[in-house]
Amino acid sequence: MIYVITEKCIECGCCGLYCKQHGISFVDDSYIIHKELCDGCGTCVEYCPIDDAIVAVHAQDSQSLKS
Ligand code: SF4
Ligand code: SF4
Repeated sequence: MIYVITEKCIECGCCGLYCKQHGISFVDDSYIIHKELCDGCGTCVEYCPIDDAIVAVHAQDSQSLKS
């Protein structure tokens, strides 16, 4: 599993501070998780204040998602 950021994100930036993989960036006015860096640890979800702003997906289902 990897994680992706959804449209519920309020762009607080908290998740990016705690990703040990440095896999979260602010790009084109929104936060994204770089799927090639995400190891599925789930730390970002623990620190995100918004329900469902970060969700787990199967890696193969992420191909159509913005990386
Ligand atoms: S699941 Fe872990 S590695 Fe992936 S983006 Fe979140 S904190 Fe980073
Ligand atoms: S912690 Fe949650 S709300 Fe804040 S930038 Fe990350 S995904 Fe968005």
